[in-house]
Amino acid sequence: MISTATSAQSIMQRADIMAGFSEDAGRLTRAYLTPEHRQAHDQLAQWMQDAGLDTWQDSVGNQWGRKVSRNPTQPTLVIGSHSDTVTNAGKYDGNLGVLLAIDALSSLKDIEFPFHIDVVAFADEEGTRFNTTLIGSSAVAGGFNPDWLVIKDASGVSIAQAMMEFGLDPNQAGKDARTTDELLGYLEVHIEQGPVLETKNLPVGIVTGIAGAKRFQFQVTGVAGHAGTVPVDLRQDALCGAAEMINFVERYARQAEIVATVGICETVKGAINVIPGETHFTLDVRSSNQETLERSVNEILLGINKIAKSRELSVNSQKVYQAQAVECDSDLQQRWGNVVEQVTQQEPCYLPSGAGHDAMAMAAITPIGMLFVRCDKGISHNPAENVLVEDVDVALSCLINMIKTFHP
Ligand SMILES: [Zn+2]
Repeated sequence: MISTATSAQSIMQRADIMAGFSEDAGRLTRAYLTPEHRQAHDQLAQWMQDAGLDTWQDSVGNQWGRKVSRNPTQPTLVIGSHSDTVTNAGKYDGNLGVLLAIDALSSLKDIEFPFHIDVVAFADEEGTRFNTTLIGSSAVAGGFNPDWLVIKDASGVSIAQAMMEFGLDPNQAGKDARTTDELLGYLEVHIEQGPVLETKNLPVGIVTGIAGAKRFQFQVTGVAGHAGTVPVDLRQDALCGAAEMINFVERYARQAEIVATVGICETVKGAINVIPGETHFTLDVRSSNQETLERSVNEILLGINKIAKSRELSVNSQKVYQAQAVECDSDLQQRWGNVVEQVTQQEPCYLPSGAGHDAMAMAAITPIGMLFVRCDKGISHNPAENVLVEDVDVALSCLINMIKTFHP
């Protein structure tokens, strides 16, 4: 077996270097199509070339590297994750998967495969800058929407303009999508972003599927009034109504097998001496089972409407986002299971992903297989995000062995 310990060390060092490509001094923020993103991709391209890969940038700015097969008789295997980050991010979300893939192919440099193996750093997974997630992988999977080109960031720069500044031609965006026939499958290694593997004391786990999600924006309207003169019984307090609704959401999530979160709740024109007349809140509901997700959302909406009615409030809801639940390919899960057992000498753990990933988009065109790496306390999207070098070592061995399972 290939010794990977020094490689794991170097992956950790590279993650540190990648964290330096940030728009904020002292913290990591690297959004789609920014100058820092350009620098990060130039660095990745350099490492890809060092690993013996042919490199290119595609029409939406994804960075690719190919281990070229001299005589390809099978479709291409793609391995990747994303290179953009959230605001004030950790070093490993996305980046770890890209760096592992580059290192794995470097280790396999001298082995000839009957197919190309592509590493991809997807350029926009988080949606930090334009609030549109998965642009990079959606474009590869044939789902680029030309309407996205006019979406603007907070300073009024459109995606089309940002693409030109990044060295891309917006008219070509999404035109180089890959097709099902061309691909053998898509593999992604990613930090778990949850506490399950740590609780089970396991370095890695096999992902069974990625949760679908629905997000809503609610507007609760009551009647604003004087905090001193209107008796409590006669109020139509929008914030108290929202509070009851939020409580209901939590109770519902506990008994149904879903997660539901109200991340924002604000009183419009709130004041210390005014009964809240209008309150806005958000709702994010997820489940790895699409039917459960649909049913839960319907029941939550019914419950919220009931509460509004009982308090003589009006409530409007607007769906702002949805993603279908996606299952990981069962053959790829089995392969991961075999290599994980072989590498760790432990019973492999299978777990669903509550977070979205590029693999969701890639599932539209090819079988997907994901491996999770344990992360410290399950923390992610946070500078405290951390992984053990020993776990990176295990993940690297698993990925190398996984790629070898495709060798005839
Ligand atoms: Zn990620």
